[in-house]
Amino acid sequence: MKKLLLATRNADKVKEIREFLQHLRIQILSVNDINGLVDVEEDQPTLAGNAIKKATVLSQQAGLPALADDTGLEVEALGAGPGVMSSRFAGASATYDDNIQKLLRELEGIPERDRKARFRTVIAFAEKGKVETVEGVCEGVILTAKRGDGGFGYDPVFYVPERKKTFAEMSLKEKNEISHRGVALRKARIILERYFEHNR
Ligand code: IMP
Repeated sequence: MKKLLLATRNADKVKEIREFLQHLRIQILSVNDINGLVDVEEDQPTLAGNAIKKATVLSQQAGLPALADDTGLEVEALGAGPGVMSSRFAGASATYDDNIQKLLRELEGIPERDRKARFRTVIAFAEKGKVETVEGVCEGVILTAKRGDGGFGYDPVFYVPERKKTFAEMSLKEKNEISHRGVALRKARIILERYFEHNR
């Protein structure tokens, strides 16, 4: 069976991406499934830069085609921040909740109409030194308190007006239908289908 490496150790992302690509009939591995892979530092100034770096370096290390995702939350009132810094917003070893609490503090007193935000995901697919990227965006609003138990990261405070729910109040299936990662994965799936059909 053909193999695809997901260039991440984040079990939440792996779960979302696996659900999306299950029909491809390929073995989907993450960095945790292969011994000896060295972690790639996310030190690039853009989401695309980080996604391309993770996918190309890990594809080379593992000798497998690799898919990497880099995601940022862009809040209008914060000048599109934290953006590429989203995972380290509250510090290098910040938990999901540390980041949410810092976000809520920074937006304290700002009315709902000025709390617009978007998630942006860039996905890079690398194989044999070649790399392609696709992007997905989802628009929403940052709430003043958490709602819902599902999802991960900033999901409990990211409200999607057209569904009247936060991402954390949606099933994985519903989140994938409309999320930044879902939009990007639908585009990436076309690239993957083409690649794995030709290399079956
Ligand atoms: P990265 O792509 O792993 O660098 O993610 C950047 C930050 O955004 C991390 O803090 C993640 O927890 C968060 N994040 C990534 N994807 C999502 C998502 O789908 N929902 C909520 N937070 C996310």
